[in-house]
Amino acid sequence: MSMRQKVLLKIKSVELDKVDAPQKVSSYFGENTFNMKAMQKHISKNTFAAFKTWISEGRTITLEQANEIANAMKDWAISKGASYYTHWFQPMTGLTAEKHDSFISITGPGKVIEKFSGNKLIQGEPDASSFPSGGIRATFEARGYTAWDPSSPAFIIESKLGKTLCIPTIFISYHGEALDKKLPLLRSDEALNKAALSLLKLFGHKDIKKVFSTCGPEQEYFLIDKNYYNLRQDMVMTGRTLVGAPSPKGQQLEDQYFGTIKERVVNFMFEVAEEAYKLGIPLMTRHNEVAPHQYEFAPIFEESNLAADHNQLLMELMKKIALRHDMVCLLHEKPFAGINGSGKHLNWSLSDDKGNNLLNPGQTPEDNLQFLALLAAVLRAVYLHADLLRASVAMAGNEHRLGANEAPPAIISVFLGQQLTEILNMIEKGVKSKVSKNDIMDLGIGRLPKFNKDTTDRNRTSPFAFTGAKFEFRAVGSSQNISTPIAVVNTIIAESLDYVAEKIKKASSGKDFNTAVLKVISEIAKETKDIRFEGNNYAEAWIKEAKKRSLPNMAATYEALEALTKEKNIALFEKYKVFSKEELIARYHIWIHMYNLTLEIEANTLKEMVNASVVPAGYRYEKLLARTLQELVALKKTAGLALDAGALKDKKEHLIEVVSKIYYVRRNALEMDKLLAKAQKTNDEKRAELYFKELKPLMEHIRKHVDQLECVVPDDAWELPKYREMLFIK
Ligand code: ADP
Ligand code: MG
Repeated sequence: MSMRQKVLLKIKSVELDKVDAPQKVSSYFGENTFNMKAMQKHISKNTFAAFKTWISEGRTITLEQANEIANAMKDWAISKGASYYTHWFQPMTGLTAEKHDSFISITGPGKVIEKFSGNKLIQGEPDASSFPSGGIRATFEARGYTAWDPSSPAFIIESKLGKTLCIPTIFISYHGEALDKKLPLLRSDEALNKAALSLLKLFGHKDIKKVFSTCGPEQEYFLIDKNYYNLRQDMVMTGRTLVGAPSPKGQQLEDQYFGTIKERVVNFMFEVAEEAYKLGIPLMTRHNEVAPHQYEFAPIFEESNLAADHNQLLMELMKKIALRHDMVCLLHEKPFAGINGSGKHLNWSLSDDKGNNLLNPGQTPEDNLQFLALLAAVLRAVYLHADLLRASVAMAGNEHRLGANEAPPAIISVFLGQQLTEILNMIEKGVKSKVSKNDIMDLGIGRLPKFNKDTTDRNRTSPFAFTGAKFEFRAVGSSQNISTPIAVVNTIIAESLDYVAEKIKKASSGKDFNTAVLKVISEIAKETKDIRFEGNNYAEAWIKEAKKRSLPNMAATYEALEALTKEKNIALFEKYKVFSKEELIARYHIWIHMYNLTLEIEANTLKEMVNASVVPAGYRYEKLLARTLQELVALKKTAGLALDAGALKDKKEHLIEVVSKIYYVRRNALEMDKLLAKAQKTNDEKRAELYFKELKPLMEHIRKHVDQLECVVPDDAWELPKYREMLFIK
């Protein structure tokens, strides 16, 4: 029996200890966070007031106040059993990072006390010189600093033997350059706030103090049994399968989608939800996805900043808790070839400080005019900056997914739905020089319906779809930190809001306001028409059509990332103070480099699997075939065995087939080696291009032959868990 077959015998639902009846969620939601409520209880009135002003208006607090908060935070954390604290941050690699320090300070020989000062709360200095800085730190200062982000509450992470207080921070260089994913997001919300407020002012809203983006990321993932995972070097090293023949049954029956969830998986989901609730993560839905063993969690939306932190935390929880259930949670964008990959639909909208969703069509014609002006701004933003949206989701994992049959292509377009399209068409045709209330009613604006899901959400293929009262950016990868995509969406929309406000100001000076707004909407609708697409984004015809419209279609990561180096884009980010030129270029270099590293790890893993597992299994079968043939021919001679000529020919042909497949696999693996060596002599940009154009096809080629071998080599000689097992025996 092979290792693989032994493992098959071990696959079983894990027996869990009986747990207490679940408590009401409201009784423990957020109990492990130092939120406003907890803070208010632990600090003085004055300090709490100062803190609140800091959050809402950005006026900073004094060191004494910081000390008070730090002390309160420490006492709170210790009362909950925490003994360590860490500044928790999100470096440019997209992971989260932490460096733990104990609360203790030495007070005398053999004596310690628990201590945590405002200084330590506000700023940390992890010895973090190994985090990529894309050259930023080399030019200034070697170290990176973490600085407290008070807008995201501190939280406690529990593990079996202890608890750690985690303090969300940003990560910056000595001179304040962003070395993380978080600071640009915070800056972009600031830019959005300013731009949105000035547009809203034109519509008469002088009472609105703050506008911010809201976000609800739908998290897709796979679960597979840990025993399978451990036997697959490719999963362990790269998070995806590099070889593996398709199973006869894939997702074609669609019998998994929204089906009943297996008990083992439900248990996992319950545990994730419970831990998430303690951390204040508002998980709402969970269900089976289309592919076998694929699932989704979706939260209730929150301020983007919190949503981004919570999504990072959720991914960590999912990975940790899956292991407790003897499963591994796969967040990779394309763990299995031939079946759906995983994405993260980023639901995005704008909210004001009164809790109004600004992308909700309103009750009155005036409200709807404002809604349409905002909509026009979004259309223009996506039209002008599709390249940046594409760049914001560019990474090795997503490269496999985008453009595959279940994900939007690398072409960015916007779906609005029939009703909104008709309204925009009418506005385009019908703007008179003077518009009366009746005219507005005639344009359909007076009575905008609530766009429910049935009318707006039918097109699941669009990468940027209006779905009721929000936009859904569907090209984001499942493993990605959502901070960067949000920062890009926020920035490009801030710029368009400014543009729309300027236009309206000009058009309305001395003229009727509503007429001016309609004119601006009409112009933008006309100018940006090419970005709108209501049809099937997965169809071949759209690729051709998009080309005619000159919409960018960048399948390769290296091409997509080039957008970060373009003058117009650098100028945009500098204008809105989201990225400086250096910060942007640094990201370009880091992400290209990460792409290369990912592909190198994949290629080297494939090489080892092929040489140490696949080829030896092939040799065993080859030997078996050769021996059988030899023995049969001998028997024919010595014992006059009446062999059918056809049968003998078939045996020979099959042997030749197997021999040549093994040969192809080996030959291509050697080619791959040469290619990797050649790549070492090129710079990162050239290397990424080489990997995309030559290495990936070569790996696919190897895979094709390996997968064919998998289908003929005796089952007990094949050590790698098969698709039909990993995806169907749960
Ligand atoms: P669908 O099924 O069409 O994807 P849902 O209504 O189930 O849409 O919502 C999906 C996600 O969108 C949820 O995470 C939800 O919180 C989020 N969402 C809803 N409204 C908003 C909003 N105004 N801003 C940001 N995200 C939102
Ligand atoms: Mg969705």
